[in-house]
Amino acid sequence: MSAKLDEKLEPIYQELLHRNPGESEFHQAVREVLETIGPVLCKHPEFADRKIIQRICEPERQIIFRVPWQDDSGEIHINRAFRVEFNSALGPYKGGMRFHPSVYLGIIKFLGFEQIFKNALTGLPIGGGKGGSDFNPKGKSDNEIMRFCQSLMTELYRHIGVYTDVPAGDIGVGGREIGYLFGQYKRITNRYESGVITGKGTDWGGSLARKEATGYGAVYFTQEMLKVRNDSLDGKKLIVSGSGNVAIYAMEKAQSQGAKIVACSDSSGVIYHKEGIDLDTVKRIKEVERGRISDYIESHKKAKYLKDACIWDIPCDIALPCATQNELNAKDAKKLVENGCIAVVEGANMPTTPEGIKVLQESKVAFGPSKAANAGGVATSALEMQQNASRASWSFEHTENCLAEIMIGIHRRCYETAEEYGATGDYVSGANIEGFLRVARAMDAMGVI
Ligand code: NDP
Repeated sequence: MSAKLDEKLEPIYQELLHRNPGESEFHQAVREVLETIGPVLCKHPEFADRKIIQRICEPERQIIFRVPWQDDSGEIHINRAFRVEFNSALGPYKGGMRFHPSVYLGIIKFLGFEQIFKNALTGLPIGGGKGGSDFNPKGKSDNEIMRFCQSLMTELYRHIGVYTDVPAGDIGVGGREIGYLFGQYKRITNRYESGVITGKGTDWGGSLARKEATGYGAVYFTQEMLKVRNDSLDGKKLIVSGSGNVAIYAMEKAQSQGAKIVACSDSSGVIYHKEGIDLDTVKRIKEVERGRISDYIESHKKAKYLKDACIWDIPCDIALPCATQNELNAKDAKKLVENGCIAVVEGANMPTTPEGIKVLQESKVAFGPSKAANAGGVATSALEMQQNASRASWSFEHTENCLAEIMIGIHRRCYETAEEYGATGDYVSGANIEGFLRVARAMDAMGVI
């Protein structure tokens, strides 16, 4: 597939493939990290001697459980849910819950593994975890969503806690679902432990700017990458895949910085609007009506709906993949390069395939990997936990300033670490090495556990 692994790391990877069969996304996420940390082991042979890598690749705990629920007609359905508590060297497990029919253990393990390093990069005291279910929220009524969330939490509550494991949202899990999940936790435990879950409503313990944080953060990261190249977002043409939480707020922040968004999408098709996407319409369709992006053309006659089209074929200066994993492959990357794209920054988790990343990096397209670029969401979740612990509510402005500072810091550390390890401008190496070092040092200090 891609680069050769260091001779100490190849057997570790082979063993991982053997022990975790059929989990291709997990293999991909681990391989990407192993490909970049060879030079760290030369500087720090003690990490290899103490088997830190093998320990990081094995989740501390994996929980799989049944979620039975009844639909509005009374029919019973059975879903499967997961919580992978991957690594708690730096703090309680922290990471979202995903509801999507494609969810299986391999997806949750890839997301949990990535989360360890992402959370380390924020510099905040949070470990890595992730969860989810193969439940499909599309087309379900509010009552069905509520019954599903209540059933899921009836098992999950015993595994989570302010000092143990703190879930949040992800694909298919937004403010509505977090409300139902928290409500059931509170009911079962008879405790108002705000800090047990993040992404809450701002009237009941949530943080201002959390909803916006992942998208805004990805744009702050993009701006820092452009500054290194003496460039800015002003006047740039952007395409953004997806039209969910991350995509919407990435578009909002990019527009406020003078960029024009010409396309966004959902899993059925692409909206192309040459004059610039009207975000109020997208928000109404997606956040209020819970509709499809194809509805956009009803309000904008000049826009085009391209069913089953590939968004990466649309010419742009900057591309922000904000939908899902492996949505941008080598062919797409070549098309972006051909069309003159100068930067690709990942709002979604692992949206670019390894082959796609190779094409972009070889073509000198600035590439911002998800671990670093979308860390603003979890960072602001950690700020929500801080507010909950001190029973405070910060202003939007203060929280956003903290987020901006964190993103600028992540960019600087990734850039400097890549430089230190002889890979200037390679944010994949910078993010992986910097995140790994933080976790490895903490694990090493705590002995063999
Ligand atoms: P949402 O559920 O709000 O939106 C997801 C968007 O992506 C929708 O437009 C959806 O379209 C599209 N999408 C999902 N799956 C697919 C697919 N298989 N093919 C094509 N399009 C798809 O999720 P978020 O915006 O919260 O998450 C998006 C990405 O960002 C994910 O990778 C997530 O892990 C990552 N992320 C999210 C964070 C957050 O704070 N929310 C934090 C860090 C990362 P459709 O409606 O048609 O399914």
